[in-house]
Amino acid sequence: MIPIHENIDGRVAVITGGGGVLCSRMAVELVRHGVKVAILNRTAAKGQKVVDEITSKGGVAIAIETDVLDRESLVRAKKAILEQFGRVDILINGAGGNHSDAITGPEKYEEDATSKSFFDLDESGFSDVFSLNFTGTFLPSQVFGKDLLKAESPTIINISSMSAYAPLTKIPAYSAAKASINNFTMWMAVHFAEAGLRVNSIAPGFFVTEQNKDLLLDENGNYTARSKKIMAATPMKKFGKPEELLGALLFLVDESYSSFVTGTTMAVDGGFMAYSGV
Ligand code: NAD
Repeated sequence: MIPIHENIDGRVAVITGGGGVLCSRMAVELVRHGVKVAILNRTAAKGQKVVDEITSKGGVAIAIETDVLDRESLVRAKKAILEQFGRVDILINGAGGNHSDAITGPEKYEEDATSKSFFDLDESGFSDVFSLNFTGTFLPSQVFGKDLLKAESPTIINISSMSAYAPLTKIPAYSAAKASINNFTMWMAVHFAEAGLRVNSIAPGFFVTEQNKDLLLDENGNYTARSKKIMAATPMKKFGKPEELLGALLFLVDESYSSFVTGTTMAVDGGFMAYSGV
């Protein structure tokens, strides 16, 4: 178990997508270190479930139904958070994901493909995935940015992906959007460096969650052909567990460890990115 980071006790974290598999574990962990948490999730029930888990153990958390692509919804959430907690210190831009409308059937071009080819990808499906992963980080950063700048040691954590570096086959919109997250992380880090707001990303390797389980597991829960390729490319030969992201999160959030760290994207990937395949 990670030792308690007393330095962040009493701070307030806003976590978009905090009802999801990875970010709900981040929420629970931050609360363990004394952080008060606002879960902003599009599906209210998912956010509330995480809040119930936290409050049943004595932690402080609220869930607010929020769409990260709707500025008004974010502004409403901010108002409620400021009324309840009075401040914002940490923003985790965790909402993100993929959709079948933006995924090709074959990995590589096939002239006589029977499943969805690159040319069949629906423009609006492609844009929706791109927006969720990019604009869904840009808008919350804008809406919460001014309040973050009032905090003593504010920080933004974005969530990138292995697909940001060498894009994974089949998922061009998601890959392009996650690449833009690394770029935007650096942009914001530079823009706000002298104002004291640190901006970093975490790039998870492969974790089986709601958004990718259909790609990674078959109907019987066995590895798909794609999972087998991932395993072959992951030197540690396993999928990550959500709790394996938490050390990176606490390092980046707590300036007593990372006060000179901004603009970086930290891979937590079992060696995937380091491996050339040879
Ligand atoms: P998840 O689907 O469990 O969580 C995503 C959450 O975001 C869900 O609770 C969903 O309701 C919420 N959400 C979706 N659209 C939203 C919107 N418009 N407004 C507000 N909330 C919205 O997925 P996860 O795997 O836990 O993913 C969390 C983040 O990590 C995502 O950004 C994802 O792209 C990234 N990521 C995941 C993996 C992985 O292997 N699972 C790898 C790399 C990066």
